[in-house]
Amino acid sequence: MGRVNYCQGCGAIIQTNDKQEPGYAPSSALTNDTIICQRCFRLKHYNEIQDVPYTDQDFLDMIGQINQTKSLIVKIIDIFDFSGSFIKSLHRLTGKNEIILVGNKVDLLPKSTNLNRLKHWMKKTAADLGLVVQDVFLISAAKGKGMEEVKGAIEHYRNKKDVYVVGCTNVGKSTFINRLINESTGTKDAITTSYFPGTTLGFIEIPLDEQSALFDTPGVINRGQMAHYISKTDLKVITPTKEIKPIIHQLQQGQTLFIGGLARIDFIKGNKQPFVCYFANQLSIHRTKLENADALYEAHKGELLAPPSKENLSELPEWSTRSFKIDGDKSDIVIPGLGWITMSGEPATVTIHTPKTVAATKRDAII
Ligand code: GDP
Repeated sequence: MGRVNYCQGCGAIIQTNDKQEPGYAPSSALTNDTIICQRCFRLKHYNEIQDVPYTDQDFLDMIGQINQTKSLIVKIIDIFDFSGSFIKSLHRLTGKNEIILVGNKVDLLPKSTNLNRLKHWMKKTAADLGLVVQDVFLISAAKGKGMEEVKGAIEHYRNKKDVYVVGCTNVGKSTFINRLINESTGTKDAITTSYFPGTTLGFIEIPLDEQSALFDTPGVINRGQMAHYISKTDLKVITPTKEIKPIIHQLQQGQTLFIGGLARIDFIKGNKQPFVCYFANQLSIHRTKLENADALYEAHKGELLAPPSKENLSELPEWSTRSFKIDGDKSDIVIPGLGWITMSGEPATVTIHTPKTVAATKRDAII
């Protein structure tokens, strides 16, 4: 037996036998200085992706190894998709270790966002979900914002222990680690990044000093993420790529807004008031009368009301509804993975329709 090689992109064990399994590389690749599996090679060069035959349970089992360790956990979430990227089972899997919570993609928020309020909301929501965190940070891994603070906190809390970076797919974990490595060693794109969920496959070890290391862990696939129900093309439409610009709709009672074909907001009761919509700039919003909304959806889903596009409509889970009463406090109705709508606090009753695995929530307004 030769020595075991690990893919420098995703951490899978390199094998040359089965093209369908993780870590496959042609034998000619084994002589390269840097060995990378075919999947990462393609991802790097052509941005294509093959589906990987790991189950959700396989991923969770891998992460479960962390509760045997004494380490610091850095948990990354996507601030555009808090509930979709939170992974409730994670603290069971990571054991008694201290956790710092890092909200990524802060570059997408309007400049007027109250970041302290957002941090406070993250900390409180995490606690409500049973996770006590030592500290909360907001960063943009892509733009490098907030990285110094997080690096300082990692050094402070790890206290010479190992560090495990955990997070669900697509939160920007690879981008974060690439930046850490790049800033400390100058190496670019050490780990593969891409648009598509599920890109990081094994534990990748990055030495911190003689006795400890930082580990990148596989991105957990979370069925509560909108990203799993739509195609790669549609994912590009719902994913903001730059600072989102709010769009204000003045709505009367009895009117409805469709967010593409992925969410519907019914204004059930209240005086005329602004619904301030924070979604990807390229995602279209349609207004109609509540009484026509069902018929409009049936007639135009997958076309006018898209994403999802027609071919992918069957992937969408059944719809479910949640109603919210707003009275006095400026509030956000959050639609995980898409964005949110800010309500002024003027009394209102709204009903939100979303795919049932991606239910809407309410929070104090962050802007
Ligand atoms: P992973 O699956 O968690 O490893 O996530 P990746 O690092 O592959 O990133 C997933 C997607 O989010 C990619 O399209 C990244 O370009 C994007 N992304 C990562 N970090 C940021 C960020 O700070 N801001 C923005 N706007 N996008 C980001």
